[in-house]
Amino acid sequence: MSNATTNDTLAKARIAVLGYGSQGRAHALNLKDSGLDVVIGLRPGGPTWKKAEADGFAVVEPAEAVKGADLVAVLTPDMVQPTLYTDVIEPNIKPGAALLFAHGFNIHFGQIKPRADIDVILVAPKGPGALVRSEYERGRGVPCIWAVYQDVSGHAEATTKAYADGIGGGRAMLIQTDFKEETETDLFGEQAVLCGGASELVIAGFETLVEAGYQPEIAYYEVMHELKLIVDLFYEGGITRMLEFVSETAQYGDYVSGPRIVDAATKQRMKDVLTDIQDGTFAKNWTAEYKAGLPNYKKFKQADLDHPIEKVGKELRARMPWLQSGKQATPAAEPLKKVG
Ligand code: NDP
Ligand code: MG
Repeated sequence: MSNATTNDTLAKARIAVLGYGSQGRAHALNLKDSGLDVVIGLRPGGPTWKKAEADGFAVVEPAEAVKGADLVAVLTPDMVQPTLYTDVIEPNIKPGAALLFAHGFNIHFGQIKPRADIDVILVAPKGPGALVRSEYERGRGVPCIWAVYQDVSGHAEATTKAYADGIGGGRAMLIQTDFKEETETDLFGEQAVLCGGASELVIAGFETLVEAGYQPEIAYYEVMHELKLIVDLFYEGGITRMLEFVSETAQYGDYVSGPRIVDAATKQRMKDVLTDIQDGTFAKNWTAEYKAGLPNYKKFKQADLDHPIEKVGKELRARMPWLQSGKQATPAAEPLKKVG
């Protein structure tokens, strides 16, 4: 499969992709299918090394991959990037090479202070890695936002756009941003709406029905399963399309009850969440949590996994094996939990 790029900036470039998880695998496969030269950098013995090899890539240790590269894409978890930068990238990256991120966190919050003689760029797909790959395979793409933080080569912008094209983003939409805007909006989206907001809304709805004596199975279908149908309509045609498809009764209920659930106080708390992101409070807390060995993260995660909606959901989903049909695009090890 090939993907015409709008420029040939990367035609002769060697691209090192560090990390072969949600984004890493998708970027690497798409770039390769776009005709670009990709090597994967991973720690030996890690679980994804074999997967990258099985997908046909040359896999070497991160330092090796960085040495020969004209572009280094840092696609490991955000919290491991600062050490990876200091230990592996900084001592090995070629002067004039480009250092690419898919999220601006570490540059924006000063956790990585990049060398002055390299380009520093960003291509952030607005979707999980599995979708970046599956959309590309279907001849489509996931929209990407891009930015240049440091341009020493004089062609950092062309490099950034060529990379975004290479992963299929140009087929959908490329929007210029800066590291600050990408970082803050991405964190806000996942916290307030996509991951945090949506899952708490579903759980609270489930609990409300179950506590009122309704069957958990029915509550599950009502507030979890059916959400997909609504979100698909949002995705295709926004609120307009959703309103076209639901009944008049559902619409009236939406108008009168929706604002009772998400009201001015909810919006004020969204603003508070945004403030914590903007002033660095969230970044400071998350970094400290990570360094402490994730005590709260593990506790919160276990509580989510142990919630009754997960028990009933597991049983009901087992009755609908076709729900797993996206498996090849969404390997079990890399579930759609990852929005970004
Ligand atoms: P993943 O958690 O999926 O990355 C896992 C990969 O990183 C594995 O290949 C793993 O290798 C490797 N890795 C982990 N630790 C190290 C290490 N110390 N040294 C070298 N490699 C390591 O990451 P994501 O794809 O979720 O995130 C990557 C970047 O993309 C982040 O900046 C994130 O914010 C951004 N992003 C993510 C999105 C998403 O959908 N997830 C969306 C948009 C942006 P091993 O097998 O050895 O463990
Ligand atoms: Mg994110």
